[in-house]
Amino acid sequence: MNDNHDRTIEPIELTPESCFTFHCHPGLSCFTECCGNTTIMLSPYDILRLKRHLGLSSWEFLTKYTCLVRDEDSNLPLIILNMQQGAENRCPFLQPEGCSVYDHRPTACRYYPIGLGSLMTETGLQECHAYIQEEHCQGFNSETQWQVDSWRRNQGLEDYDEMNREWKVILLSLSARANGGLDANQQDQFFMAAYDLDRFRSLLLNSPLGKKCDLDPEKAEALQTNDDELLKIAYRYLKTVLGSEAPSSGNCTVECGRC
Ligand code: SF4
Ligand code: SF4
Repeated sequence: MNDNHDRTIEPIELTPESCFTFHCHPGLSCFTECCGNTTIMLSPYDILRLKRHLGLSSWEFLTKYTCLVRDEDSNLPLIILNMQQGAENRCPFLQPEGCSVYDHRPTACRYYPIGLGSLMTETGLQECHAYIQEEHCQGFNSETQWQVDSWRRNQGLEDYDEMNREWKVILLSLSARANGGLDANQQDQFFMAAYDLDRFRSLLLNSPLGKKCDLDPEKAEALQTNDDELLKIAYRYLKTVLGSEAPSSGNCTVECGRC
């Protein structure tokens, strides 16, 4: 929640053809002001990218840099960046010169000032975008024009979007059920496969689970180091073991990223 920054309440919906203007750079007096007093939710791929970049295990990263919160409706565990660094509730990765993890910054930081909404329909996952104009942000006083697609490319979002889509389907599907439809043990499995990827790797490679997943020795060897492939298997695990295979339509989640 952004407590200190005034913001326009209603985001402006963007179609693929809509244009917006934006340019964020260190010369602005608001530079890095948006990196505190805010909530940044992390997807499994965000966690993977950050923990790999920082040379930490997933558990070390989760312990050092994040907090666990529960979704109000489904009670599913969600992971947010721990902003309790110093009096100003700043992001742990913020340095005077800017973001210290810029090349691996989370999805929400990349999309900003665009908010991303996700909705399950009868034809599958649909995403919509909105422009969020916060008063403190001077990036809008620019003539640099963007459309959603050019912004996504500029911010390196293609890999993130690809890895996050399947996650959203899983989350929307499970969120539609009371308590995510999961008992305590399943909630633990959900946490492990989604967020604590190194623990999931260990389970996959050192328990009968690997056999169930038909891992041949070559693939098992590759999974020792290939986090992206491991996360895809974790998504399959979440879908089959936790039964998030058949999402119902009409459930909406809006990731404005800076809510
Ligand atoms: S407030 Fe806006 S312009 Fe200023 S640093 Fe943040 S995103 Fe950039
Ligand atoms: S990860 Fe980087 S861009 Fe995102 S809030 Fe932290 S310092 Fe800012």
